[in-house]
Amino acid sequence: MLKSFSHLDRHSNISRLSDEEYDLAIIGGGINGAGIARDAASRGMKVLVLEADDFASGTSSRSSKLVHGGIRYLENLEFGLVFEALTERARLFDLAPHLVHPLRFVLPVYKGDRVGMNKLGAGMALYDLLSTYEAPELHERLGKDESLERLPLLNKHNLKGSFVYSDAYMDDDRLVIETLRAANQDGANIVNYMKVTEPIKEGDEVIGLKCMDQKTGKEHQVKARYFVGALGPWTDRFFNGFFSDWKKRLRPTKGIHITVSRDRVKMNEAVVMVSNDQKRIVFGIPRHEMTIFGTTDTDFREDPREVTATSDDVQYLLKLVNQYFPGADLNQEDIISSYAGVRPLVADGSESEGKTSREHEIWNLNSNFTVIAGGKYTTYRLIAEEVMDQVLGFFPLEDQVLFARSKSLKALNPLVTYDSMQKAYASIPRWSRNTSFSKDQLTKLVDRHGMEADNILSFMKSDEKACEELLWVLEARHAIRNTMCLSLRDFYFRRTPLFLSYPDHGHQFLEAVTDVFVEELGWDDSDVAQKQKELFEQEGFDLAWKKASEQSVVSADLT
Ligand code: FAD
Repeated sequence: MLKSFSHLDRHSNISRLSDEEYDLAIIGGGINGAGIARDAASRGMKVLVLEADDFASGTSSRSSKLVHGGIRYLENLEFGLVFEALTERARLFDLAPHLVHPLRFVLPVYKGDRVGMNKLGAGMALYDLLSTYEAPELHERLGKDESLERLPLLNKHNLKGSFVYSDAYMDDDRLVIETLRAANQDGANIVNYMKVTEPIKEGDEVIGLKCMDQKTGKEHQVKARYFVGALGPWTDRFFNGFFSDWKKRLRPTKGIHITVSRDRVKMNEAVVMVSNDQKRIVFGIPRHEMTIFGTTDTDFREDPREVTATSDDVQYLLKLVNQYFPGADLNQEDIISSYAGVRPLVADGSESEGKTSREHEIWNLNSNFTVIAGGKYTTYRLIAEEVMDQVLGFFPLEDQVLFARSKSLKALNPLVTYDSMQKAYASIPRWSRNTSFSKDQLTKLVDRHGMEADNILSFMKSDEKACEELLWVLEARHAIRNTMCLSLRDFYFRRTPLFLSYPDHGHQFLEAVTDVFVEELGWDDSDVAQKQKELFEQEGFDLAWKKASEQSVVSADLT
């Protein structure tokens, strides 16, 4: 039985804030905060997570959404790192089969590329070896003609051939939320929209935190024995002032992505494109509902909440995609959506953004405060384990024994194991007969939720008729009841691909989805108006570059 993690639990979780002393209070509900909470709660610790906005609303919903071993690390001979990431990749297929899916990647090679066919071939063989041959499929070497058969729109000019290898794509936002649900299952107290504002200190020691409910403005105080900051790109902003001797540690960089319809640039496998200066890699990633192209990498010093794509960022991606796929003739009008995020890179004195290390750092600031920044999704479970092993070093011996065993290798959601996923696919014909949803619609639901699809279908009312809209209505009921989803913005941006993949950003379902929030959360007319406005504002903010480009075209026409 899954423990409830609904909007109603948020109220009871808030009432538990000041009643208890926690073993561990975590600030930040992105993938690192979620992973640490899951690890610590699985050891039996009393854990608290405070997130200022929605879960995964920071960098953790704005990634390329890839789980990968990091083939480029092989060039620097970092074999240990690649082995570790590939091992974790294999584990994630088991831990979250509804969130992490195998995907083939085609890497075309052109005359003049910095890394030629032979060197790349050796790298590919090593990549398979380091996965201990447990990659979903081993690599293939394709000649020019075979490459063009695979990707008919690929630029032929100077093409030498390509390599095809395995990695994975994922739902980054939902991976955070499922990880938090797993921590909740193990007893963690998790609150979104609760911003930590300042420390409560006794002398130099932090003994508690003041925080403010972003929904009501009410202040709360919490006490804990130990604190972990998992604030991603907010790390310097948050700790500057929190600790008087804090020194800037990050070099944040911005990365943007654009999404287009699957049939606009036909590809069944992801494509790896290399920028003209041979310094950056840009992926084309086909997913169920869209193709994502990205990313860029430029220094970013402003508030991470203010990050957004610019026309220049978008043009950079379009130019590279059109260079690889000249026949596609992709232009601005083809772009459905875009999103931007800030990498919390740890400053290492590198001369450029691209050369700055992508690795995580853990800083133990004093006897009860640890800060983590950087890292990748692929190894988030391992990073969490490493943080907790270090944290426990500061606990008394009896606690070290009591909390020694992490159980983070258990499936995140007990309803969605590799085996139960197969059972869910086998149940589709029966569910289709019972509900009248088509097999395709149910396959989509199972891809996203595994056997939990059965629970989601049980939210269907007897007078409701199966259709695409109803699927999103059921998803909304699930999001509110099981993922602490509080607003339309949370739902459209971090529970579903509606904003990213539908040409109308899912507005065709807005009335029906809003009705679910009215029913579940008791919204009145002014709540509805305010929540829809918040959704439209976020859309406008993320797509502001479109308006800016249109205006610059108009001004150019007028001059
Ligand atoms: P965040 O997700 O930013 O979490 C920090 C949280 O702290 C936020 O939710 C924020 O709201 C919260 N917070 C801030 N202030 C407060 C406060 N006062 N009180 C409480 N909470 C607060 N990695 C991969 O493995 N694969 C990829 O394909 C990939 N692609 C990427 C592409 C781009 C463009 C970018 C930018 C990153 C990519 N990454 C990728 C890296 C990965 O996304 C990040 O390393 C990871 O998401 C960082 O997670 P985090 O939890 O540290 O930070």
